[in-house]
This record gives sequence, structure tokens and C-alpha cells, in this order.
Amino acid sequence: MTVHTESNINLLEFERAGLERLFAGHGERSYRAAQVMKWIYQRGVDNFDEMTNLSKDLRATLKERTNIKLPIIVSDRLSNDGSRKWLLQLADGNCIETVFIPEEGRGTLCISSQVGCSLNCRFCSTGWQGFNRNLTSGEIVGQLVLINQILKESSGSARVISNVVMMGMGEPLLNFDNVVRAMRVMLDDCAYGLSKRRITLSTAGMVPAMDRLRKECDVSLAVSLHAPTDQLRTQLVPLNRKYPISELLAACRRYVAGDTRRRVTFEYLMLKDVNDTNAHARQLIKLVRDLPAKVNLIPFNPFPKAGFQRSEPERINTFWGMLMDAGIITITRKTRGEDIHAACGQLAGKFHDRTRRSQMDPAEFSVRVVG
Ligand code: SAH
Repeated sequence: MTVHTESNINLLEFERAGLERLFAGHGERSYRAAQVMKWIYQRGVDNFDEMTNLSKDLRATLKERTNIKLPIIVSDRLSNDGSRKWLLQLADGNCIETVFIPEEGRGTLCISSQVGCSLNCRFCSTGWQGFNRNLTSGEIVGQLVLINQILKESSGSARVISNVVMMGMGEPLLNFDNVVRAMRVMLDDCAYGLSKRRITLSTAGMVPAMDRLRKECDVSLAVSLHAPTDQLRTQLVPLNRKYPISELLAACRRYVAGDTRRRVTFEYLMLKDVNDTNAHARQLIKLVRDLPAKVNLIPFNPFPKAGFQRSEPERINTFWGMLMDAGIITITRKTRGEDIHAACGQLAGKFHDRTRRSQMDPAEFSVRVVG
């Protein structure tokens, strides 16, 4: 049995309320939580001795009983287009990937929420690798703390990361509590003070958790739609069997209800001859036309096992034009970081797959899911 002594407590695991309780338990005033958060998240200090507005006694107690543990960098790769990908090792040896995407006027960090993923989407490299475990909230927010420190040092500017997308490895809504706790830290004015608009959570369509998210932490929502009919979507995203398109779209409507400025982003992969014809575009238009939504077309990023091809640029362009003509705000996502395998759906950590999916033959897979 592992005995969890207090020296194991990683302060990154706590949102403000939890940290306040922790301090109260030690007879400290609750504002200590805000002070410590500012040191960690705003000043990037992980050495308690440097937290000079805390009493010496408190610093000693923190040093003895807690820690600020960040993941370790295993590799760091820079793409020709400026995006950058890190392979990060967690305390138990599992590895995850995190990607930074700089753009004109903003910098987006793409964060992982699980080691692997259990959803088995056919077109996703993480899915093919299987699943190991959920990340803790400290491991989720730790990606932001670590990369923020690195980018600050290399650029000299305080605010390099302006946006966060929960679009790395894993299904964030299957790790609900930890993801929400981590996002609350990102939103906290004593930490990064990001606005809810600047955090986007992407889900494959966990309907009940979408309703819960709206109540508990209503950040921007992206939904991996990828197909306009249940028959096709179930083949691509097996979760569709449980939560079919009609239920998913109803949940999207509820998510943005009551705020006319809000929109759901539908992610739609462009897979050659699979979901990219004019007929598919017409079906998609019918589905989303009446929703407060926008559509992101994502050119498929191939990997060896996938068995799909990317749609031709002209096809994507025609598809885009049809949606735009129907009055749907549509953006074709630029593919970034392809040369370093950092593009959407290419994230591949290093971990032991508990589901054994990674050993599966693509042929065997298609019988199981498509058949
Ligand atoms: N599980 C969440 C978030 C992870 S992936 C979700 O499903 O939304 C983030 C986005 O990348 C999703 O829209 C996902 O469908 C997409 N994606 C996965 N594999 C891809 C690939 N090979 N090429 C392009 N996009 C991919």
C-alpha cells in the first residue's frame, strides 16, 4: 500500500478553494493561497525560499510537506512553421505530448488530458495507441506552467500563451473533474487569468458531461462532428453509438442557450471519398444551419495505420464554399507542425497500453467497428 504523506502533496493539484482549505488546515489565513498561486503561476517560482511574502515558518512547512512538481522534458521539436512539440514525462514514467502554435497576435497551447484515449476513433493516432490513465489536474495544468516558463525564457516576453485548447491526447470530458479543476486554475486571476473565450475544450460528444460542463465551467466548446449521418459517424467515432447526432446537437444547443454571442465550433475532418462529397456538404448544411455554430474543416493528417487519405485541396475548397454560401461561418484549419508530427491527431506519447488496442491489426479493427 502506498502511504500518502503530506510531503507528496503537489500544490499544482489544487484550485484556489482547495488551496485555501489546505492552508486553513494548517492554521494559516486563506489569502496565503492567493499569494502562493501568484508565485507559482505568475512569477514562475517553484522554490519556496523565494516566496518572500510568506513567513519563514510557513515556507519551511511548505518545503517539508508539499512540492511543485512539473513534468520532465524528454524531447523538444521545433517545426519549420514555428510550432513546437514537447514529449513530457510524468512521475510514473508515462509520456504525453503538448504543442505550442504561434499565430499572428496569439499563441495557443494544445494540452493533453489523458495518457492515450479510450474512444477508438479510427482516424486518430492517439486512439490507435490505446489508453493508460487519466491525467491529474496538476499534470494538466503542469503542461501550461512548464511551457509558459520555457517560452517566457526564450522570448523574454511575459505573455506568450494567450489561448489554451484541450485538444491534445485524450477525451477531456472522460476526465471531467481533473480537467475542470485545471481549467479553473487557468481562469483564476491569481494564476493565468485567461478568459473563458480563450480556453476551448474539444469533445468527441460526451453528451451528459457537456451539460455538466456548462454548469461548472462553461469555456468555449468544440465538438468533433466529422460526419453528417449517424451511419458514417458511428464508423468514424464509435462513441456516436451511445450519443447519436440528434442528441449531440441538442446538447450543443443547450450549451450555448441564453447567450446570443456564443457559438459551438464543429470540427469536421476532411477524409478523401469518405465524408467530403457535395452530398455530405449538403447534409452537413442541413444539420448545422439553424445552430449557433461555426465549422472548422480539418485536412486529415495521415499516419501509417490510419487507412485514410486527406481530401484534395480543391475538394476542401469546394466543400468550404458550399458551407459559406449556405451562410455557415467556416474556416479551413491550417495544418501546422506536420514535419514534427505535431499536427491534429498525430500526438503519440509513450506509455503502456492497458487496452491492448495498440497491438491490433487495422483489418481486425475495421471488422470490429465498421462491420
Ligand atoms: N477527444 C477530443 C479531443 C482530442 S483531438 C475530441 O475528440 O474532440 C482534437 C481534434 O483533432 C479532434 O477534432 C480530432 O477529431 C482531431 N483529429 C484526430 N485525429 C486527426 C487526424 N489524423 N487528422 C486531423 N485531425 C485529427
